[in-house]
Amino acid sequence: MLLSVFLTMFLPCVGISAVFIVYVCLLWYATNDPAGDIGLPVKQVSEKGLSASELDKLPKITGKEVMAERRECAVCLDDIDGEQPARVVPGCNHAFHLLCADTWLSKHSFCPVCRAKIHPVDQSLDVSENPC
Ligand SMILES: [Zn+2]
Ligand SMILES: [Zn+2]
Repeated sequence: MLLSVFLTMFLPCVGISAVFIVYVCLLWYATNDPAGDIGLPVKQVSEKGLSASELDKLPKITGKEVMAERRECAVCLDDIDGEQPARVVPGCNHAFHLLCADTWLSKHSFCPVCRAKIHPVDQSLDVSENPC
């Protein structure tokens, strides 16, 4: 007798508690889930480097072709040796180690020395003959 009274009072409480717990869990899940979905918008980098094919269009030379006073690579501050592959920036003619230039230019599209904008163009179009 006492047990049945106890059960009739206790069971609905357990049922309501269970429903409440499930409800809270669902609520927590529903409010948390979209927050995980919304990532920070990827910041657009305005200064974008050159692609591999654009890098390919830049003149490739060796250290001995670099003018003596321009033998210092501005990226690693080391000298470009005679046999080392190097790259020349069209326009300003600053020279860098091939690897240094490619590393820099894949992230930036300007010369690290004079900050001249690099436009990878065809060699034929790059000849800027000045009639004066
Ligand atoms: Zn270098
Ligand atoms: Zn330069």
